[in-house]
Amino acid sequence: KCRITNGGFADIYTVFAKVDGDKFTGFIVERGFEGFTQGPEEHKMGIKGSSTVQLYFQDCKVPVENVLGDIGKGHKIAFNILNIGRLKLCAAALGGAKRAITTSVEYANTREQFKTAIANFGAIKHKLAEMVIQTYACESALYRTAAWIEEKEKEALAEGKPFNDALLGAAEEYAIECALLKVHGSETLDFCVDEGVQIHGGNGFSAEYNISRAYRDSRINRIYEGTNEINRLLSVDMTLKRAMQGRLAMMGPAMKVGQELLAIPDFGDADESPFAAERKLLEGFKKAILLTAGAAAQKLMMKLEHEQEILMNISDMSIDTFIGESLLLRVMRLEQEGKATQIHRDIAGVFLYDAADRIAKAAKDAINSFAEGDEQRMMLMGVRRFTKAQSFNSKDARRRIADALIAEQRYFL
Ligand SMILES: Cc1cc2nc3c(=O)[nH]c(=O)nc-3n(C[C@H](O)[C@H](O)[C@H](O)COP(=O)(O)OP(=O)(O)OC[C@H]3O[C@@H](n4cnc5c(N)ncnc54)[C@H](O)[C@@H]3O)c2cc1C
Repeated sequence: KCRITNGGFADIYTVFAKVDGDKFTGFIVERGFEGFTQGPEEHKMGIKGSSTVQLYFQDCKVPVENVLGDIGKGHKIAFNILNIGRLKLCAAALGGAKRAITTSVEYANTREQFKTAIANFGAIKHKLAEMVIQTYACESALYRTAAWIEEKEKEALAEGKPFNDALLGAAEEYAIECALLKVHGSETLDFCVDEGVQIHGGNGFSAEYNISRAYRDSRINRIYEGTNEINRLLSVDMTLKRAMQGRLAMMGPAMKVGQELLAIPDFGDADESPFAAERKLLEGFKKAILLTAGAAAQKLMMKLEHEQEILMNISDMSIDTFIGESLLLRVMRLEQEGKATQIHRDIAGVFLYDAADRIAKAAKDAINSFAEGDEQRMMLMGVRRFTKAQSFNSKDARRRIADALIAEQRYFL
């Protein structure tokens, strides 16, 4: 088995292998077992403080009492542990992102060019603000999912389930969200460290500065715990499977969206309650997903799994919608509690305004690849309607976010 974290000094290894060639099973392999050896430490691009080695199981003998769980039930342990791992990877990545933001704003406040701190330049403010927006938005979805899992786990414990079953079952319920968080968390960190290096200029490329280490260390997060491609594909696959099992309503709501497109648009009375426009936009995002995914599933059926580009489009739309909705709910809650500031409102405003364009682009790319004629025109019109955001001065909003960060000199939310 290639590349095992902590493999160089672990005493106990959790290993999955097949019994009789087909029964996927978990085993506890102990250092010193006959036939079990390890390779040398790998020379890596980043996370050099961690041990990564190759493990060999040449005719390795494992006593029967070291079978983990039941024979043939290894997938239950492996897949559910992955869900928790993905959630935790997101949390760790966001911790790193906050650190990268603080390091970057400290540098931007002290580095002077053209007789002024580079933090005063609009181009740098844009970067700093975007780092904060993505991090805060992703964290909102992370907290939301962690709370869901905790609630589900408590329910299962109250029903008398053992702790392990309760936790793993709860994580399975939110496996789709865990996959989306893994992708967005790792990409947020990558974005922050990349912009962090850019803010550091030539110094960012020097091994003497911490940000260059953060840049190298960040990269692995998009690869392990399931690559981001695999997690994107999985998120859509799980959604479609749950829809087919009746665990999740998709085809009914998708048909409703189709009918809505054929009907005369409802211009109704303007909703003037707080965040009405943002809530409507999010409803639109969901409709755009239902429209695209519903039509793709109906049109391509079993062929859809071979059209990975479309699955990636749907997954990207889901990520923006899930993260955007979590962010909006967090800001609305802060508003209700009287704790919201203009910065919170700006973060939600910019994220949703940008997400509308990203979602529209992903939906268009998908639709153009499988629909044509009137159907295509109708769907594209629907996408335009569902992703239509109100005009918004995102430049000034980003400036306010960056100015607050520059004044605090650290990630402060
Ligand atoms: C530092 C480090 C530590 C690690 N620690 C552990 C550990 O502790 N335990 C452990 O079990 N593993 C560990 N791994 C392994 C890691 O999980 C794998 O490297 C990772 O899952 C990717 O698998 P792979 O390297 O075989 O890449 P590949 O599967 O060869 O992927 C190569 C590329 O092809 C894409 N790809 C692959 N399949 C598909 C598909 N079906 N559709 C579309 N695209 C696809 C991938 O997304 C990727 O972009 C570690 C790896 C590293 C680098």
